[in-house]
Amino acid sequence: MPSRADLESLDRADPLARFRDLFALPEGVIYLDGNSLGAQPRQTAARLAEVVEREWGRDLITSWNRNGWIDYPARLGGKVARLIGADADEVLVCDTTSINLFKALTAALDQRPDRRVILADRANFPSDLYIAEGLARRRPDATVRLVEETELAGAIDDSVAVVTLTQVNYKTGYLHDMAALTRAAHEAGALVVWDLAHSAGALPIDLNGAGADYAVGCGYKYLNGGPCAPAFLYVARRHQAKIDPPLPGWLGHAEPFAFDTDYRPAEGMRRNLCSMPSILASAALEVGLDLMLDAGIYALRTKSLALTETFIRVVERRCPGLFDLATPRDPARRGSQVSLRHPEGYAIVQALIARGVIG
Ligand SMILES: *Cc1c(COP(=O)(O)O)cnc(C)c1O
Repeated sequence: MPSRADLESLDRADPLARFRDLFALPEGVIYLDGNSLGAQPRQTAARLAEVVEREWGRDLITSWNRNGWIDYPARLGGKVARLIGADADEVLVCDTTSINLFKALTAALDQRPDRRVILADRANFPSDLYIAEGLARRRPDATVRLVEETELAGAIDDSVAVVTLTQVNYKTGYLHDMAALTRAAHEAGALVVWDLAHSAGALPIDLNGAGADYAVGCGYKYLNGGPCAPAFLYVARRHQAKIDPPLPGWLGHAEPFAFDTDYRPAEGMRRNLCSMPSILASAALEVGLDLMLDAGIYALRTKSLALTETFIRVVERRCPGLFDLATPRDPARRGSQVSLRHPEGYAIVQALIARGVIG
């Protein structure tokens, strides 16, 4: 087990050390729950005050152009793209993860009219399963098939239109092999929608390298965008022109400000926009994204694996036999979290919170 002195020397050599002070964490709190709500970048408060006082207060409606409000979904999408192995014109920041999942699953089903099944893993985040079920109930041609996490690859047959998967499991931190599962789906003629809620900002992702079709992800977890920050949607360029948006709002129209009675979808990614996401929320997310890009996702991954590995070793040495490790030991199969199982888990976490450790 590493000694305290070993750990302090690792801290001194940490290339990311300067980022600690860029977050407004309260004194006396050890915050380990950034996978649920990311911490607050110090810069966020000043940036929000600027948007309120100058952009909204003084510049008013001229801000759409003067302060680039109209470009938020695409501009932030371009920043997210750099974290997930996509091109800038393949990502939009808008809506929520759940709503973007609805849009992506609808597009994928539309592309496979001769197939009925949305295949999902039973351990997926509940909202993702609810959205898939809600969509299937509205389409006489669709049904959701749930299988165990480990049985996914074998369950993709020629009835499957689309596989919907969260890359890193929110409970266990299990990391799916994106390239292999995408390949297995494509070999069976199916499409894949990846949910990156627990991987964007947590580890390097290569959507285009994996040949991915669609992806969604969350702005308020690892991206530190603030409570209920807008989410993102990725559509591989080859699919973009085929999309008939299920929520064809005015901002996805070819000419939103022509106020045309007839809907004509915008070229490319922008047709997936329904309305503008909140400008205040978008401005806050941009602060989080800029910090993430400054730190660099490879450096973050190196540190994340060192932290999770050290934590696992310390728990195993200091609390032998007390917990089951739910997270894979293999770093190649682990997201950026460590989950321990215990029958009194809830009470233990509450007791830790009372001592300033938020797990
Ligand atoms: C957090 C989370 C969601 C919910 O995101 P919303 O933006 O609130 O819809 C969906 N899926 C996964 C995997 C999540 O972790």
